[in-house]
Amino acid sequence: MNSPNKKQLFIFNSLSGKKEAFVPIHKDKVGMYVCGPTLYSEPHMGNMRTFINFDLVYRYLIHSGYQVKYVRNITDAGHITNSAGEQEDSIGNAARMEQLQPLEIVYKYNLRFQELNKIYNLLPPSIEPTATGHIQEQIEIIEKIIENGFAYVKNGSVYFDVKSYMKSYNYGELSGRKVDELENETRELNAQEEKKFFADFALWKKAQKNDMQIWRSPWGDGNPGWHIECTAMSTKYLGETFDIHGGGLDLKFPHHEDEIAQSCGASGKSPANIWMHANMLNVNGKKMSKSLGNFFLPQEIVDGSSTLFSKPYSPQVIRFFMMQSHYRSTLDLTEEALNASEKGFERLQLSMELLENAPVSESSSFGVPLLIQSFYDAMNDDFNAPILIANLFDAVKKINLIHDKKETINAGDKAFLLNEMKSFIHDVLGLNFGLSKADDRLGPVMDLVLELRQNARDKKDWDTSDLIRDGLKNAGIEVKDGKENTHWK
Ligand code: AMP
Ligand code: ZN
Repeated sequence: MNSPNKKQLFIFNSLSGKKEAFVPIHKDKVGMYVCGPTLYSEPHMGNMRTFINFDLVYRYLIHSGYQVKYVRNITDAGHITNSAGEQEDSIGNAARMEQLQPLEIVYKYNLRFQELNKIYNLLPPSIEPTATGHIQEQIEIIEKIIENGFAYVKNGSVYFDVKSYMKSYNYGELSGRKVDELENETRELNAQEEKKFFADFALWKKAQKNDMQIWRSPWGDGNPGWHIECTAMSTKYLGETFDIHGGGLDLKFPHHEDEIAQSCGASGKSPANIWMHANMLNVNGKKMSKSLGNFFLPQEIVDGSSTLFSKPYSPQVIRFFMMQSHYRSTLDLTEEALNASEKGFERLQLSMELLENAPVSESSSFGVPLLIQSFYDAMNDDFNAPILIANLFDAVKKINLIHDKKETINAGDKAFLLNEMKSFIHDVLGLNFGLSKADDRLGPVMDLVLELRQNARDKKDWDTSDLIRDGLKNAGIEVKDGKENTHWK
């Protein structure tokens, strides 16, 4: 069988602002760290977009033959910097609100998060370490940074000394932020008076009255700053310098900038060779976020309970929709776009069935290896899934023409194309036809059943209508009456 030339993978590195040829530190192996969720509430669809995008990266690296160690942490401690630049204990706040202990909160939402990972077909990372499980490692790194003269202790807290760091390193190298410009952005921040310089950030915060999680440290009781957990966990599992560090674009500054500073400050080494940033999921042009209140939950779109959409969409369709835009582009979620993706997904699925049953000829009338090469070329160009999908649809056109007897394919090429298309659709894009196939077969049957139920309702024959609804429920099918239509799942 032919084997496509996989060629060189290029990745856009946020650090250099360029696409770079990817050369792993250790041959055939990749170490990748991605900032995971802060589990004080259920992750929204925007959070999921970032994790789905890195799932694509993980999947393609595996597909390319690398042995990947993928570390995605869970933030369950520490003070997160909120949009106003203040240190906020979001998990503690949620614990007070819900009258639960902080780790009960994290456990509760982690169960949801893991469920969502399954629903949206994300591969589990190699490890999902937690901040609370690595307090000792965080303390040790802070001690090294202090020893190296890049941090100072003040009133039981420890701050990173940005001015001292800037004598040896370039603070702002990732985000391009200039310290003088930061000053204008800085508002009244808590503990600002403790810092030597306004841009200094907390590595350790002295315990405060309301803190619900407190640990012992050489500087007294307190809890870690947010950025230090990722430095501690990435170093522990991947080493002082590893291949890829990822996260949402909104984490570039200050979180990732500060991670670089902490690693350089502790070991003298920059943590990652490549920094990848996934762009935001927007709603009407604005970033979906909890604080803006313009978010919806990944479950709501699947079960049809979101008021933004008139019907439910399968998670496979949503994932397909997300794959149709590049990870570095913003993406607006609209009903129109989802409907188009739903149709496209069906076409793709149908064409795979057509290809399986396609007649073979002596020779192929088009260049199958070239077509397949285009799948690899798309993904090798900074994981360009939308181009990959466009190329898959070029294949769909050919398959339709074979079906219409206007093109031909030989047996070898057919097996090759089938195999490669399947692996790009299932293994790389992470799309599962199996699930919606069942829905598809059930579709016409359900249309009929719901029509019978509607007839009964029109005649006010509630017994029959209830009988149908309850019978469906027993079969695991839930019927929901909308304003205009009845939906089922
Ligand atoms: P958080 O739980 O807030 O730390 O966020 C978890 C991840 O979701 C981070 O990598 C964020 O960058 C990412 N994220 C947050 N909002 C969005 C959004 N609207 N679109 C895409 N990613 C997001
Ligand atoms: Zn992080």
